[in-house]
Amino acid sequence: MPTSDIGQEATEQGGLGDVLRPVRGKLVLACVLQAGAAIAGLVPFVAIAELARELFSDDPDDGRLWGIAAVAVLGLVIRLVLMLGAASITHFADVELSLDLRRQMAERLGEVPLGWYDDRDGGEVKKAVVDDVASMHHLVGHTFTDLTNAVVTPIAAMVLLFLTDWQLSLIVLVPFLLGVAGFSRQMSGYGDKMAKYNGALEEVNTGAVEFVQGISVIKTFGQAGRAHRRFLDAANRLVDYFWDWVSGLLRISSITEVVLSPLATLALISGAGTWFVSTGRIEAVDLVLFFVLGLALTAPILTLGMAANDLQTASQAAQRVATLLRLPTLPRSEDPRWPDGNDVVFEQVSFSYDGERQVLHGVDLHLEPGTITALVGPSGSGKTTLAKLLCRFWDPTAGAVRLGGVDLRDVAPEELYRRVGFVFQEVQLLRTTLLENIRLGRPQADVEDVEAAARSAQIHDRILELPRGYGSVVGEDATLSGGEAQRVSIARALLADAPVLVLDEATAFADPESEAAIQDALSELAAGRTLLVIAHRLSTIVAADQIAVVDDGRIIELGTHEELLVADHVYRRLWDADRRVTVSSGRSA
Ligand code: ADP
Ligand code: MG
Repeated sequence: MPTSDIGQEATEQGGLGDVLRPVRGKLVLACVLQAGAAIAGLVPFVAIAELARELFSDDPDDGRLWGIAAVAVLGLVIRLVLMLGAASITHFADVELSLDLRRQMAERLGEVPLGWYDDRDGGEVKKAVVDDVASMHHLVGHTFTDLTNAVVTPIAAMVLLFLTDWQLSLIVLVPFLLGVAGFSRQMSGYGDKMAKYNGALEEVNTGAVEFVQGISVIKTFGQAGRAHRRFLDAANRLVDYFWDWVSGLLRISSITEVVLSPLATLALISGAGTWFVSTGRIEAVDLVLFFVLGLALTAPILTLGMAANDLQTASQAAQRVATLLRLPTLPRSEDPRWPDGNDVVFEQVSFSYDGERQVLHGVDLHLEPGTITALVGPSGSGKTTLAKLLCRFWDPTAGAVRLGGVDLRDVAPEELYRRVGFVFQEVQLLRTTLLENIRLGRPQADVEDVEAAARSAQIHDRILELPRGYGSVVGEDATLSGGEAQRVSIARALLADAPVLVLDEATAFADPESEAAIQDALSELAAGRTLLVIAHRLSTIVAADQIAVVDDGRIIELGTHEELLVADHVYRRLWDADRRVTVSSGRSA
């Protein structure tokens, strides 16, 4: 599914349960311990009530008072131990889970088709691997135990109160129920509203980016007001929406807050309690338990809300992670075969990116070892796609690509990439020194080898002009043009010394000077190799052993430059057009 992105796929199925499965046992144990801690945490409160009862009795017993105090301390100690236990377990689970997930993701990312990366930028992948795994930390490390605490504490407190006096308990329950009701009002449709809010925010971002990107055009044409508008409108919509939502929330939440405040609870207990005592339903000292436990009832509601929020964020993250872990991978042969030689055969190759529109239709092409084959043709005709199939960015939908007689699907990936090198349009240089960038091709190469490769790729002299020569860092003190960057990657490919090499649009960025340089680099590359070149300028490939004209996913002409000129067909027209461009732009062909 090359065209769908991580985010879209994520909504298809739930992932939190799947993702958490390896640590489920630990989480359950931690929650059980935490529940024990919550119950133990109520012991001191009960002890206070019991102390009061003893102190107000006619004949307080010293021994009994000390006994109660000891039980209170014991309760606290047990609570502490259980909480520590729960926290250590969840943190172990957290470390285990994030290591495990990152390892699985790295493995999976190594197996997805290379072509998958074409459609997305690194940011998206980084978000899943780094941020989403991190946002599960809070969930695993804290949220489940917080949630257990927030649920068990009020329930246990309620049970104790009901055992003391169920009628007064019912009254004390009122603010709690009001609080819960208010809170769920507040949270109702939270997901939808948040989504709407994010949508509005996204619009503002788009507007802002558009505005900034277009700023030179806008200024040039004096249209500042107009370009602004989309941004301003989006910003106004966001503010309106947010205000509506928040002002509604504020009303509910301030009411909820008052109802749930300790003062309100105490007032209620005092009022109702006085009435219960004066009518002789309960003893005055029974009220102490209500005073101390009544507060335990309402406090956790806020925690509940926050935990619900965490849970939502984490499930979205988990879905993205789960989606990444389910990405289709290129099948790896169980029983890899060894290519015999380095000739390449495309055999009735058809391909479709989306399973609907065919981009290649039954292409046959033979690349003999030690020859140059050039692909030419209009933009969108399928040249890059064909070349990428040879590097197994994808597998053909029908037909096969064979290297040394073996279907690429049966070649072990390591062996494939030892034999097939490529330099594609989207040149990727890492943010490190030029030396290291080139040495990626063969990490154990020494400096002389690197320089030799750079010389062959016609980039050595340019590198020496940089402030720190080969030690200059890409993106810091090495700023290279597209053509220069491409020659660096050609040097890398040269160093890797793969017998089959694929070059796409090698001169797309080139000025006439670097075009000539690239042409020289090409002939250097061609020596003894099987070369497949996609040429932007026809002048660079007149010497190719065969030129294949691609049109709408088919090879419609095949031959040498001279043969194709004589044939006087599509190539001839392309050639004439290319000449005109060359002449009018003042270049020599
Ligand atoms: P060329 O290199 O000849 O310009 P391409 O091989 O890049 O042509 O593209 C051939 C066709 O495949 C085009 O119609 C293009 O829109 C489509 N295409 C290329 N890459 C992708 C992709 N990653 N996903 C979907 N369609 C694609
Ligand atoms: Mg292309």
